[in-house]
Amino acid sequence: MLSSGSAATETIGGTVMVERRRYVRFEYEGRVRFGRVAPTVDDHTPVEVLTGDPARIDVVATGELLPMEVMRMLAPVVPGKIVAVGRNYADHIAETGLGAPPVPRLFFKPPSAVTGPDTDIVYPEQSRRVEHEAELAVVMGRTARKVKAADAAAYVFGYTCANDVTARDIQQADGQPSWAKAFDTFCPLGPWIVTGIDPGNLAIGAMVNGEYRQRSRTSHMLTPVPDLIEYITTAVTLEPGDIILTGTPAGVGPVRPGDWVSVFIEHIGTIRNTVTSGTE
Ligand code: MG
Repeated sequence: MLSSGSAATETIGGTVMVERRRYVRFEYEGRVRFGRVAPTVDDHTPVEVLTGDPARIDVVATGELLPMEVMRMLAPVVPGKIVAVGRNYADHIAETGLGAPPVPRLFFKPPSAVTGPDTDIVYPEQSRRVEHEAELAVVMGRTARKVKAADAAAYVFGYTCANDVTARDIQQADGQPSWAKAFDTFCPLGPWIVTGIDPGNLAIGAMVNGEYRQRSRTSHMLTPVPDLIEYITTAVTLEPGDIILTGTPAGVGPVRPGDWVSVFIEHIGTIRNTVTSGTE
């Protein structure tokens, strides 16, 4: 059995070790369910179907096994809210021409923007410049309010890949990130949540049509994950299933209808989406 609102754990030398697993959400034969699978497997390894959303409730395996290849993979979590951080990588700050912010620059992305792997990012007709932003997404596993950075890891369920898609021309015209980043399909998440990894120094990047556009490491964050959780929860209670988007490294750039864009993070995987015209 998995422990409440978190991945399977064991205690070694007084340190809680979280087992590294992949957690998926999928649709099969018209039903949406959750599953888990060991991390070092290929796509043919069976997925253990779970009794519910592992980020939010106690779950057990139902005993049913399904091959991943028969599933339609969905965003691995349906967040209640998405707190996002702007200008959090030194290399990205340099390319924006703007300075490092004195405190984290937070905005909120609506949960309605979430889409899953292998879906389309719809290019809005209001924009002439849509850009990709590869980001590490933190998935919360426990209610977190006024949590200290030193304790923050215990409140995290796991991590997944995110693309903080942005209508850059709209952002620059009106200065409102929560509007320019809010369009439907502007928050691909997935392909799964990975538990039991340290978010502090992971390779992260993005490709467009198979060419590298962003390559960095999460160690370049100005405010790392534990400190973001401390800062955010001074004001906002984070609930299980909520998401933090932790900012993007250098190399953000445009995508166009017909392109495919992928975000990859070490020890997690790759989410890939195709960009389509909103007028089709
Ligand atoms: Mg961003």
